Amino acid sequence: MVLVTGEIYWFTISMLIDFALQKIINQQEVDNGKRNEGAFDITRLSINNIDELLSWHKRVCDCNQTATCIIIYHRCVIKNQTYHSLSYPKRQSTNSYFVKYTNDRRDTLFGAIELFFTYKNSTLALINNYPNEHLFSDVFASSSYHSSLSKYINTYFYLLQAKPSSFHYVPIHKILNICVVFEKDDFIIVTPISPVYEHD
Ligand SMILES: [Zn+2]
Repeated sequence: MVLVTGEIYWFTISMLIDFALQKIINQQEVDNGKRNEGAFDITRLSINNIDELLSWHKRVCDCNQTATCIIIYHRCVIKNQTYHSLSYPKRQSTNSYFVKYTNDRRDTLFGAIELFFTYKNSTLALINNYPNEHLFSDVFASSSYHSSLSKYINTYFYLLQAKPSSFHYVPIHKILNICVVFEKDDFIIVTPISPVYEHD
């Protein structure tokens, strides 16, 4: 793997982030007709074709009305920000459905939202989790910038394995940020971005 170290690399990264952010902001402006918090845009997907949801339902519920017990959605508003899922046909880029999220152990996790669903009174996302590869600063181990930048880098950039490894069922309040994604051959780099729309 050959990386250009120093200013050129960071300039390129920041240009890519600017570009991705503009795309996300544009998409948000299209999406936002001041929607309420929660899932919207019901899909025509049948739960019977989604093994991960069927098995989850089996674990948590003993009803035999899966199709009415679990409703599947394309999109969701979380803290005034619209998130897409892979199921959403009009999504524009990876940047609208790749997210940083957490769990009860407060781990920092990343993944692609496959879909949203409601079950009883809660709304969850089915997320395909991408495990951490190693610290992003390790990529720059030979760079003269390493010691001065590594703390900053590891807070804002995360290096993930190129392929997802498992599904997580995530209550939507555990979803924290949309991420800008840079796909490489054998890993991906993500950087979480702050919500575009803040509370009034
Ligand atoms: Zn049920």
